[in-house]
Amino acid sequence: MKIAIIGSGSAGMTAAYNLIDKDVTVDMFEKGNGLESRNRNEVMEGFGGAGAYSDGKLTLTTEYGGWLTDYMPERELEELIKEADDMWKSVSGVLDLSSGADYEATKNLQYECSKHGLRLYPAKIRHLGTDNCLLFIERLYEMIKKAENINLFCNANVTDLIVENDTVKGIELNINGISEKRYYDKVIAGVGRSGNAWMQDMVRKYSIKNDLNPVDIGVRVEVPRAITDKFTNNLYEFKIKYYTSEFEDEVRTFCVNPGGFISIEKNTGGLLTVNGHSYKNRHSDNTNFALLVSTKFTEPFDEPLKYGRYIANLSNMLAGGDNVIVQRYGDFVRGRRSTESRIRKNFVRPTLNALPGDLSFVLPYRYLHNLRETIEQLDKVMPGMADPNTLMYGVEVKFYSVRIKVDKHMRAESLENLYCTGDGAGLTRGIIQASVSGLIAAKDILQSK
Ligand SMILES: Cc1cc2nc3c(=O)[nH]c(=O)nc-3n(C[C@H](O)[C@H](O)[C@H](O)COP(=O)(O)OP(=O)(O)OC[C@H]3O[C@@H](n4cnc5c(N)ncnc54)[C@H](O)[C@@H]3O)c2cc1C
Repeated sequence: MKIAIIGSGSAGMTAAYNLIDKDVTVDMFEKGNGLESRNRNEVMEGFGGAGAYSDGKLTLTTEYGGWLTDYMPERELEELIKEADDMWKSVSGVLDLSSGADYEATKNLQYECSKHGLRLYPAKIRHLGTDNCLLFIERLYEMIKKAENINLFCNANVTDLIVENDTVKGIELNINGISEKRYYDKVIAGVGRSGNAWMQDMVRKYSIKNDLNPVDIGVRVEVPRAITDKFTNNLYEFKIKYYTSEFEDEVRTFCVNPGGFISIEKNTGGLLTVNGHSYKNRHSDNTNFALLVSTKFTEPFDEPLKYGRYIANLSNMLAGGDNVIVQRYGDFVRGRRSTESRIRKNFVRPTLNALPGDLSFVLPYRYLHNLRETIEQLDKVMPGMADPNTLMYGVEVKFYSVRIKVDKHMRAESLENLYCTGDGAGLTRGIIQASVSGLIAAKDILQSK
């Protein structure tokens, strides 16, 4: 049986790992560079996918990192998460958990949060750190290259599917400027967020059934580490949701980095958004985390990606085109711009050289209000959060692809022989669930032989 895997991110790599030395022939296509030539500026593309230079925070919970619970009972997903985690553990060699150990302490924090309308989700986290995450990818790269039944093609951009009678027969691709067609029995698409546009083209061209996902827009908050210690020392990452009183919108904390650094994420088309990461062996004095407001559009407007890009574009424009904005919380509340001199005098030292500005020119009132209300609530369990010296970087946007309609085996409902996995199919938004989706596809292929 001949299999094509499109994309070498968490989903594609896990599918390939589970097909090594099995009775199938696999061609794996990655449009970005191989590891030898990939550099750190290539955040979203290249072998390893978007997770390659990430913080490598494996969230071992069904609640976060994707929507796979919509396709299977929670128990089943827990088992699959464990299986995917086993791969990350054995290849990276990182065996210890960073959080989730102290049950009593977690319960107390949960209780404290609940008194202020904040819902804390305890989660087990294996934190690899950017350094160990890269080590994992290097080792897997070698394993895949050595595997006799797997051929890896980098700088190979899959441009189209070959579809006959609602059945996928193969792919069209472009390798080193040369276009060709190749035929396969099964195709696994794991194109990630950088493959959003491609996936949308396929949806339109082949009428692939899909649903809409929300767009999450907000800021990255940076505070002195001591403010979050009570939470991060026990949980490493606090995952908190809050429903605001005025709009009843869901605001959530996301991607907490104790001792971490703020970074800029370069999206397709040069769009800059904020992100954060941390190292296992190098720390700052701050903690950063994203505060995101989730918005789902209904009708007539149904393009959440476009909306998110519009807001991010605005922030880039005001930051001079090649930067993101930083604002002190004190300035944000007073409705004035942060300036170089105000940032210089600020107690919290920024870990990114962002442009001091005014986020109220960027975000609609609804977002500003939701963010302020949530920061004030968080201040009740993490005193100091709403201090004027707290820094906000904008904007952070999480774009999710259209959600392809799949069954529990990740088979596309409306096209035979196509598996849709990971972030590109709008099913996941984190390394572990993306891995799980690749694992499910590989298992189904082996079972169907
Ligand atoms: C800076 C950053 C930090 C992050 N930190 C974390 C974290 O700590 N923990 C966590 O759980 N998640 C994190 N994430 C999210 C995580 O990286 C993704 O959820 C995960 O990588 C999704 O895996 P994927 O396989 O679906 O897609 P991706 O990892 O995006 O991989 C898709 C791959 O497909 C390739 N591709 C796309 N289109 C084509 C095509 N047409 N032909 C060939 N190849 C194609 C792309 O080049 C890419 O390499 C982070 C993301 C970023 C950007």
